[in-house]
Amino acid sequence: MKYKSPPELNRGRRFSDNMVCGHELLLKAKLGIRGNTKGVGYAVPAFNVTTFQGINAAFEAFETLGSSGYLAFSNSALKHFGRGDAISGLELASSYIERLAKVSTVKIATHLDHGDYTSDGGRKVVQASIEMLTSVMADNSTNKKLGIPSSLEDNIGFTREVVNMAHPVGVSVEGELGVLAGEEDEDTKSEVSTYTNPEELEEFLKCTGVLMLAPTIGTKHGPNKGKPGEKVKLNIPLAHELLKTANEVNDEIVFVAHGASTLYPNVVKFAIDQLKSLSDNSETIENWRNFVGTDWEQIQGLIGAGFCKINTDTENRQTFLAALIGAINKNASKVDIRYYDNLTTAALRNSYIQKLIMAGNYGIWHEPKIDIKSFNFKLD
Ligand SMILES: [Zn+2]
Repeated sequence: MKYKSPPELNRGRRFSDNMVCGHELLLKAKLGIRGNTKGVGYAVPAFNVTTFQGINAAFEAFETLGSSGYLAFSNSALKHFGRGDAISGLELASSYIERLAKVSTVKIATHLDHGDYTSDGGRKVVQASIEMLTSVMADNSTNKKLGIPSSLEDNIGFTREVVNMAHPVGVSVEGELGVLAGEEDEDTKSEVSTYTNPEELEEFLKCTGVLMLAPTIGTKHGPNKGKPGEKVKLNIPLAHELLKTANEVNDEIVFVAHGASTLYPNVVKFAIDQLKSLSDNSETIENWRNFVGTDWEQIQGLIGAGFCKINTDTENRQTFLAALIGAINKNASKVDIRYYDNLTTAALRNSYIQKLIMAGNYGIWHEPKIDIKSFNFKLD
């Protein structure tokens, strides 16, 4: 091996009040730790937030359930927070979260999603994220500068550079091996996908030292993960094979599922019903009908194969949008913006609560404040 052993994650690092390293929450999930008890493993849904409203809704959900709080930012979300400038977006969003975390009842991790160390612009965002967040993804599986999949050697080299900077200051790093298809936002898109090669996995994990890895086993980014009417099929046997290899390298390694949104059928139906009573919307209704998510049983299969972080975004965006369409349909003459803000925030919060319950992520820091069994997620 041409690499010296990678630096270990510095677990003594103290972050601002109630902020924790991303990997700490995921390791708890892998070991099934809730409060002082140890039981069955669960998953941590990582919510991609793009607005301050989204952050507020997520905090409400975490505090309602006593959940692990995992908030992720894409490059384009950071640009949105920073009115065009990703670094200033990082400063604003991270300080906002730290302020809320100070008085929170749960622990919060912040994460850069799809950080890119292959281009100059991406590198600056990764470096600033190591200073301001508690976890970063070093996605060098594609060379953004050249627009082609990276060689294993390049992926290892770039990812290791990020680990060298992040681990000593207690910031965890997520690597990606294999290429994931679909479009997450304008910075993350690929036409083709390749499965993670188990032989490459061992080398990648040993040389980079990452404790979080996004392997590719058939998930897809974006709202259309397959053809309408067809079910998405993930390669669960491969996931188990990869987990065995990873555990042999270091049993603290956790897997991350990208493109893992499952859609809420009741949200899709609600949106279509609302659109029907508005003016001609046949094309929009068709688009809603054609959204294809990954079935939850498939995601459960992944959770059983060591996938502790489940990235979800699409269903929450859809819930927000459906609630907004409903509000406009019901009463579009209200000129108090807070009416729409409160309504969509509540819908987003409930979407997050639903996903946290599905992933078994509640009662981690304190008992839930609601009865989990009677929680009924619906829009009205
Ligand atoms: Zn992703």
